[in-house]
Amino acid sequence: MSNKIDNLLVKETLTRDELSFLISLEGVERDYFLKSVGNKYVETLGKKVYFRGLVEFSNYCTKDCYYCGIRKSNNHSERYDIDDQAIIEAAIFAHENKYGSLVLQSGERSDTTFTSRITNLLKAIKKATNGELGITISLGEQSEEVYREWFEAGAHRYLLRIESSNKELYYKIHPEDEKHNFETRINCLKTLQKIGYQTGTGVMIGLPLQSYEQLADDLLFFKDMNIDMVGMGPFIEHTETPLYAHKDILWPLQRRFDVSLNMIAALRLLMPDINIAAATALQAIDPMGREKALRYGANVIMPNITPTLHRKDYTLYENKPCTDEGAEDCSNCLSIRVEMAGREIGYSEWGDSKHYFKRQGKSN
Ligand code: SAM
Ligand code: SF4
Repeated sequence: MSNKIDNLLVKETLTRDELSFLISLEGVERDYFLKSVGNKYVETLGKKVYFRGLVEFSNYCTKDCYYCGIRKSNNHSERYDIDDQAIIEAAIFAHENKYGSLVLQSGERSDTTFTSRITNLLKAIKKATNGELGITISLGEQSEEVYREWFEAGAHRYLLRIESSNKELYYKIHPEDEKHNFETRINCLKTLQKIGYQTGTGVMIGLPLQSYEQLADDLLFFKDMNIDMVGMGPFIEHTETPLYAHKDILWPLQRRFDVSLNMIAALRLLMPDINIAAATALQAIDPMGREKALRYGANVIMPNITPTLHRKDYTLYENKPCTDEGAEDCSNCLSIRVEMAGREIGYSEWGDSKHYFKRQGKSN
């Protein structure tokens, strides 16, 4: 068996069957595969891990994704919107603590009050941090004009998960309507790339009725789309969402976690030069979840620096970690954790995706 894994470790590219095989590994073969990818990755790309301070600044959302705890129809969600000054202060905290970059994330809104606010906020953050803080945004589907406006205001990376690249599964986890259109989501990714963003996507792992083959297709989707960054992690059910009705057919949490690490390692083989984030949802299952991801292929971690008062309300799924710690506690605990994973922190570095520069024909 390890012979087969050894052969796959050195292959130029991997087929759907080979990826499904790797994603579904268990037991000693799985341990062997994960450790081999970890070692190979450190030899070729080094030990650096980059921090992105995550600010989940608002949980108002106009969409109704069937899996998400802050979906519009969840009347039990306590809604909040952090004011601009507090967001700028969080950005200054990230800058002073040498995080290198910031991620701004929220529910999806496309009204001009919101989009203009973001433009002004991006400019204010750039100004307050001498243009030194990198900014990633994750604010859902927007028009090309809005994406361009935000890019010009200072955002240079964008995260928009496809959630599942399988159209049929996509419509099992989203309403089939104009607001949740599969092709629109793919077109948004293409628009982001055209504008010049480092473009990130990702999927949830362990969705109801999801197969290893579909997960393998997700990895091939990232490659076909020439994606620069990926953030993917386990699906975790939330009681106040429609998908909760399927909780009995889900893989056990531990299996969702294990397969998520297999996905990260398999993706690292398939796309050696992209950025891969250690998703927060990993930590909701295993307290050392993100560190394990760093060992086996991930190179980005996103300490949550959302002002603590509101953290508990950005509840996408049950058991969300670090909802009651201050930002400082969070960063201290993380630096120790990163070192325990045998990695080094790239302090004050943007940690851009090497793949992006290759795609653009530039060197970074
Ligand atoms: N609203 C924006 C969007 O959807 O692109 C950004 C914020 S959204 C909360 C960020 C990500 O949270 C989604 O892309 C989704 O993959 C993840 N998420 C939502 N509900 C989840 C759940 N129950 N389990 C795991 N991840 C979840
Ligand atoms: Fe809104 Fe994003 Fe949650 Fe969908 S995943 S309901 S768009 S916050």
